[in-house]
Amino acid sequence: MTADDRGKKRLSQITTTREFHRLYETPRSVCNLFSFAFRAGNFYSSAMVHVGIGYDVHALVAGRKLILGGVEIPHAKGLDGHSDADALMHAICDALLGALGEPDIGHFFPNSDPRWKNAPSRIFLEEASRIIALRPGKIVNVDATLIAQAPKLYPHVATMKRNIATALKMPEKHVGIKATTNEHMGFVGREEGIAAMAVAAIDL
Ligand code: MG
Repeated sequence: MTADDRGKKRLSQITTTREFHRLYETPRSVCNLFSFAFRAGNFYSSAMVHVGIGYDVHALVAGRKLILGGVEIPHAKGLDGHSDADALMHAICDALLGALGEPDIGHFFPNSDPRWKNAPSRIFLEEASRIIALRPGKIVNVDATLIAQAPKLYPHVATMKRNIATALKMPEKHVGIKATTNEHMGFVGREEGIAAMAVAAIDL
């Protein structure tokens, strides 16, 4: 048996603070400290939280419904896109897929596929939720910001939260949604489009 093998065998024997103390004649207080650090290290490495980021933008055009967070919001224009163009749900979906290390939403639901023509984006979140459960993983929280000059989105935030929490099978209190304007600057400020950004944390 080589010195290296003997070392490995000896390490494998150290399962308790008492054995560490006996083998290395180290003071008990130091052993207790090492033991705590070892167990804490194991605890954190067995439950690792992964974070993901998502961003989406769609153009505002006449003749389309404005749907954000699964809520149909009365407005003169709506978001253009292949599906229902729900930029908020798309950004959250990308954040979840990013936390898994997966490609973006377009990879799973290409806009060339007629199945997703005018599809409610809720189904994309439900699919992300299903993929997470398969890993297996658990969503810790989701947080998102909508950036729109008009209309006022705050009155719809509570319903958006409920829709997103339901699609992801997670508590509403772990879903954050904020809305802000772009202070009349850029394409969002000129009401040419609406953007959304999101982060998500998944326990994997
Ligand atoms: Mg999109």
